Amino acid sequence: MNRSKQLYYLQQLDSKIDRAQARIAEIKALLGADEVLQKAVKREEAVKHVLEEKRKALNKAEHEVEDQQIEIEQKTSRLYGGRVTAPKELEDLQQKVASLKRYLGVLEERQLEAMLEVDEAKDVHTEAAQSLEEVRAEREAQHEELSTEQANLRAKIEASYEERPSHLPDILPEDLQLYEELRKSRAGIAVAAANDQSCAACGSRIPSAIYQIARSPSQLTQCSTCKRILHGR
Ligand SMILES: [Zn+2]
Repeated sequence: MNRSKQLYYLQQLDSKIDRAQARIAEIKALLGADEVLQKAVKREEAVKHVLEEKRKALNKAEHEVEDQQIEIEQKTSRLYGGRVTAPKELEDLQQKVASLKRYLGVLEERQLEAMLEVDEAKDVHTEAAQSLEEVRAEREAQHEELSTEQANLRAKIEASYEERPSHLPDILPEDLQLYEELRKSRAGIAVAAANDQSCAACGSRIPSAIYQIARSPSQLTQCSTCKRILHGR
């Protein structure tokens, strides 16, 4: 049995688990981050509020025009109704009607402006609502994709954990202990391949004698720089 080779296999399995777990953490963050959606929701709410305000303003302008028209009608029927006969009063009424009609023009102009503003606000709101819908749809698709990936990763991790104990009987207890210690202190990588007589983990040159040990099935050696167990191939 090759001591470093067994550890090297274990390392590959553990690294696979580590990578899957790191990606799961990434996915969790992605699933939780919804700034873009929140921004789209807030924008839609804000422009909807503007639209409501513009509608209220239009409603008010319409009522003002109506009230003005009613008043003009009332004054006009008094003017021509025959019940008022005094010339001074008739003249006053006539002037009043003329003045009311002039102001009706102003009010109608305001109503028209309010209508245009409502139309404009409607367009802005339609655009914001569509954009929100798009963001929602995109987010849903992304959620589905990420959830599927997450489920696949979990299955992979589970399979790796099931496979892991089968490697352990071939490893000497002291080798396993060294491996676990290095995993903790060397960012998860305890075993490095020795390629072309250099350490694949830190790149340091490995003297020939050490390289020979790294290739030996019965002995174990470590990189003099990063202290990782070397597996010569
Ligand atoms: Zn090294």
